[in-house]
Amino acid sequence: MVDKKQAIALIWEEELKAASDIISKNTDELIKETLEKYAKYVNAGTAQLIGFLGSLMEDRTEGVYMYDVNGHKYLDFFSGHGVYNLGYANPKVVKAVEEQLKRSPQPSTRFAMNKPMADLCERLARITPGKLTYSFICNTGTEAVEGALKLARAATGKSRIISTINAFHGKSMGSLSVSGREMYKEPFEPLVPDIYHVPYGDIDAMKEAVNSETAAVILEPIQGEGGVICPPDGYLSAVRELCNEKGVLLILDEIQTGMGRTGKMFACEHENVAPDIMTLAKALGGGVMPIGAFIATPEVFKPFEEAPFIHSSTFGGNQLACAAANAAIDAIIEEDLPRQAAEKGEYLMAKLRDLQSRYPEILRDVRGKGLMIGIEFLDDGIAGSIIYELEAQGILVLHMLNNAKVIRLEPPLIIDYDQIDYMLNALNTALEKSMLLLE
Ligand code: PLP
Repeated sequence: MVDKKQAIALIWEEELKAASDIISKNTDELIKETLEKYAKYVNAGTAQLIGFLGSLMEDRTEGVYMYDVNGHKYLDFFSGHGVYNLGYANPKVVKAVEEQLKRSPQPSTRFAMNKPMADLCERLARITPGKLTYSFICNTGTEAVEGALKLARAATGKSRIISTINAFHGKSMGSLSVSGREMYKEPFEPLVPDIYHVPYGDIDAMKEAVNSETAAVILEPIQGEGGVICPPDGYLSAVRELCNEKGVLLILDEIQTGMGRTGKMFACEHENVAPDIMTLAKALGGGVMPIGAFIATPEVFKPFEEAPFIHSSTFGGNQLACAAANAAIDAIIEEDLPRQAAEKGEYLMAKLRDLQSRYPEILRDVRGKGLMIGIEFLDDGIAGSIIYELEAQGILVLHMLNNAKVIRLEPPLIIDYDQIDYMLNALNTALEKSMLLLE
C-alpha cells in the first residue's frame, strides 16, 4: 500500500523526471540544431571534431567554472589558452566595461583623444620592465606580433628576423612566418621572407644565426603551444646580451606568459631581462574583452612617432577594451595574482611530480612555472584519453597546439586549493584508467 505522502512524493518524482526529460530533449534539440549549423555554415571539419568529442555546448561562465546547456558544471583548468587569469566575468572588469559601454563603446576614430587608451598606455609603461614606454593597442595577439615585427624592421632598417623552432606567435602571415610548426605554414607559402628558425634554448645556435643584417630576435620566455618548454636558466639573459652586443632588437612575446601567469607579472622578470619590444594580449583584457598591445622603448618606437599613420587599426584602442584592460591590470595588482600563481603553482607542481613518480610509464614529464604547467604523456593517444576522462569528471583541459602529447594546466590564477585538489584526484583516477589501457 502506498500512503498519500508517498503517492505525492512519487508523483513529484515522476514530474521531475518528466521535466528533466523535456529539458534534456530540448537541449538535445538545441545541440543538434547548433551542430548542424556548424556543419553547414561554420566548418564541417570543426563540426565533426566537436561531434566526436561529445558536442559540449557552452551556456554561461562564472569564476572558474563553465556551465554547459545541460547545466553541467566544468572546472576550467585551461583558461582559453591563458585568457582567464582573473577567472570568468571578474566583477571589477565587468563593472568597468558596463560603465564604459553606457558612456561610449567605440572611438569616433576622428583623431580625438581617448582617455581609457591613454590610461592603459600609461599603466603598461608603469608595469612593464626596463625602458618600455610607448604602446600600440590592437585587438588580438597575432596583430600585436605583426606590429612588433613591422616596428623592428622600421626601427633598424634591416629585415632578418630570428625565431625558434616550435614557437607559436599567431596565425596571420607575419606571425605565422615567425612561428615554428611547418604543418600550419606549408599551405600558405611563400610566407614573409628573411626569417630563420633556430632550436629553442640553444644559445650557440642563436649566436650563429644572429649577424649584422639581423633586425630582431623574437622569443616566448617559455614556449607555450610548443609544449610548455622552459629554456635553460640564463638563456634569456644570454640572448639579451647577444642582442646588445650585435645591436639587434629583442622582441619578447608575453601573450601567454604575461599578466601574472608564471608567478611574475611578466615571465622575463624571472631573469631580470627587459626586451626592446614586448607583445601582450589574452589576459590583458581581463577575460572580458579582446585586446592586444605591443610596447616599445622610446628609441625603438621612433619610426611610428615620425609617421603616426604608418600603422593603424580601426578598432585598436577602443574604449571598451581599454576600460577592461585598465580594470584587469588594477585587479591583478590588487589581488597580487603573480604571487598567488607562484604559490599555487609550487603546490600543484609538487603534487604532479608525486603523480609522475607513481605513473612514470605514462606521465613522462611535468614542467612549467607558476600556473603555466605542461604534463607530457607517453603519446598523443594517452593524452587524449586523459583529456576525455577529465572532461567526464567535470574538468576542462586541452593539449598544446604544437605538441599533442602535452596537456596544459593553466587554471585561472584565482583558483583555490580545494579546486586544485579536486583536479588532482580526478587526474589520479584518469591515470589509473589509462594504465589499464596499457595492459
Ligand atoms: N603568441 C603566443 C605566445 C600565443 O600563445 C598566442 C596564442 O595562443 C598568440 C601569440 C596569438 O594570439 P591570438 O590567438 O590572440 O592571435
